[in-house]
Amino acid sequence: MKSRSLASTTTGATLLAHCRDTLGAMRREGRYREFAHLEKLAGRFPVYRWHAPAGLQEVTVWSSNDYLGMGAHPAVLAAATRAIDQHGAGAGGTRNISGTSPLHAALEAELASLHGKGGALLFGSGYIANQAALTAVLEALPGFWVFSDAKNHASMIAGMRHAKDVKRVIWKHNDLADLEARLAAAPPEAPKLIAFESVYSMDGDIAPIGAICDLAERYGALTYLDEVHAVGLYGATGGGISERDGVAHRVDLIEGTLAKGFGVLGGYVAGEADLVDFIRSVAGGLIFTTALPPAVAGAALESVRQLKRDNARRETLAERGAALKAALDAAGLPRIPAPSHIVPVMVGEAELCRQVARRLLEEHGLYATPINYPTVPRGTERLRLCATPFHTDAMIAKLITALQAVLPRWEMPLAAE
Ligand code: PMP
Repeated sequence: MKSRSLASTTTGATLLAHCRDTLGAMRREGRYREFAHLEKLAGRFPVYRWHAPAGLQEVTVWSSNDYLGMGAHPAVLAAATRAIDQHGAGAGGTRNISGTSPLHAALEAELASLHGKGGALLFGSGYIANQAALTAVLEALPGFWVFSDAKNHASMIAGMRHAKDVKRVIWKHNDLADLEARLAAAPPEAPKLIAFESVYSMDGDIAPIGAICDLAERYGALTYLDEVHAVGLYGATGGGISERDGVAHRVDLIEGTLAKGFGVLGGYVAGEADLVDFIRSVAGGLIFTTALPPAVAGAALESVRQLKRDNARRETLAERGAALKAALDAAGLPRIPAPSHIVPVMVGEAELCRQVARRLLEEHGLYATPINYPTVPRGTERLRLCATPFHTDAMIAKLITALQAVLPRWEMPLAAE
């Protein structure tokens, strides 16, 4: 039977008109999101098969968040297959309702030890981890003040906004003086939490975690650190920037993902055992949703273990990132000089950015995602590139030639590294 048309009610017709207007405006501004159909080829990462309107085409992907290629690591794939064979496809319930397997428990223990914390708790994704954990903590005490870096991810903002009766203060991105002024202006007796990231995903810059912890201690605030773009990639065992900088013990809650450096899916928080146990007991984003499938937990567990003991991929990632940056600089291409593996190349206008990405894909077989408003401010639209350990010199050379052909001239100054 055919579904009834939305337009058959006044509410539906008004809603439909709104949807069409919004989509039309997005198309006109070049912000309409189109998803390229990319088939990941596990044995050939970062080469994918693009299902183009004109047929199949092989492309090199420059925008994968599977930063270390762990999503195609043979031991990780074997662990996923083993878990499926032994436990089936889905968890079959929430963590509370028969959905907790020994794989979940082992993964949580591994993540707690990765960050040197008493406990860790898994969520369906990093997004849900941020949203659920921040809401749970900020609602735990009356009159919480949360100090949020201006460039925090949408998932942290969602968690802070969702918490009732919380005073949210936004401090200038990575600006210690601004943070201190705002902490000093808050009531000394109010409970406080500073929420920030280590590697910022769109600019690739890195927070001064130790100095933020100094301020937190001086003003009696807790610290909540999103290490989503750093876990697996930095630190001697993949514990992120907080491990690299030797400050993980000073951060109260570390949040991470299993979907980027670890190449699988899922999010988590790690912190003092009782705090994590409290979040486990109250967070809606954990209690009312199905647990991660066993294959995902098994694959992620193997990935965390691999990256704990083996530095090779981290070292190659750093070397490949440096090679990409050097090649862009030698060609005079406009990149934001950032100290991490994230390499933003500026385009500066949404429609242009979309066209540049489309030409890279169609004419050069290169996939780079255009990053547009509202993800970044208007006028700073960009391509966000990452060289994984598997991007070769030949791939870099091909990318540079293609960018020289399709990128417009960039006239504005770029901030120093
Ligand atoms: N935090 C940050 C800073 C992110 O960039 C993202 C996603 N890109 C997330 C959290 C959410 O992580 P996940 O993809 O695991 O949901």
